[in-house]
Amino acid sequence: RGKRAFIAGIADDNGYGWAIAKSLAAAGAEILVGTWVPALNIFETSLRLGKFDESRVLPDGSLMKITKVYPLDAVYDCPEDVPEDVKTNKRYAGSTKWTVKEVAESVKEDFGSIDILIHSLANGPEVSKPLLETSRNGYLAAISASSYSFVSLLKYFAPIINPGGATISLTYIASEKVIPGYGGGMSSAKAALESDTQVLAFEAGRKHKIRVNTISAGPLRSRAAKAIGFIDMIIDYSLENAPLQKELSADEVGNVAAFLASPLASAITGAVVYVDNGLNAMGVGV
Ligand code: NAD
Repeated sequence: RGKRAFIAGIADDNGYGWAIAKSLAAAGAEILVGTWVPALNIFETSLRLGKFDESRVLPDGSLMKITKVYPLDAVYDCPEDVPEDVKTNKRYAGSTKWTVKEVAESVKEDFGSIDILIHSLANGPEVSKPLLETSRNGYLAAISASSYSFVSLLKYFAPIINPGGATISLTYIASEKVIPGYGGGMSSAKAALESDTQVLAFEAGRKHKIRVNTISAGPLRSRAAKAIGFIDMIIDYSLENAPLQKELSADEVGNVAAFLASPLASAITGAVVYVDNGLNAMGVGV
């Protein structure tokens, strides 16, 4: 039978999550999606109205099928963790069972198991502030949404990921080199995500025989990246300074994710894989 993938962090057709879904679908995987609760309505409506149909086209001409979209807020592990103001918030009131534990339970009920878990989400409310001006709450929120969210997803999904399965998250080089503008503790959050990739590769490898890798992706004009504000400058910088002087397409990241999730990568775990036109190799620009 084909593989089944759960991709957390798709709310439109511009981000890495969408491109990864397409590459996995093109390779024959069944696609399940977890969408941030406040973005769920517009995503499902746009899907239904055919607004994404052009970008659903796979290499063989068929349209990518999304079997099911689950509401998800990866900042909350279980219902007891959800504060009253969120519970009663208009944007959450229409959905149920969107904490990480409940989503894993729903996927288990609906499908029994999965083979591939993708974490393509991040959030840092103070991302536009330098680290030196970031509040404790802003820093902890960045870590909660962008790093612990992966620990939590793996914790609750691991029992339903088949042995031989693979998990992948998305990181950014700001974890290891200074990228002014990537603030609010987001650089810290990516450093945590990369370190956790190694520890979780060990723990989940031993306990569940599943692999844990992260892709350090180059810049893409996604919704999240546009919110940070400096994406055009970073794309220009990469065009000028990377070994490969071309714009990075989301599909190139999607294809590496499909490789990492496949048996071709059966000995790769605990790795940070750069998909950035080689920019990470440069010490100075020329
Ligand atoms: P994106 O906007 O397509 O994806 C981010 C998603 O996270 C959105 O769908 C958003 O709704 C979701 N999200 C935010 N908070 C959430 C929560 N609490 N629970 C569930 N979902 C939540 O943007 P993207 O740039 O494709 O981001 C995907 C991943 O790629 C992120 O981890 C990001 O840091 C990483 N990345 C992006 C770039 C870039 O230049 N765009 C570069 C390197 C790494």
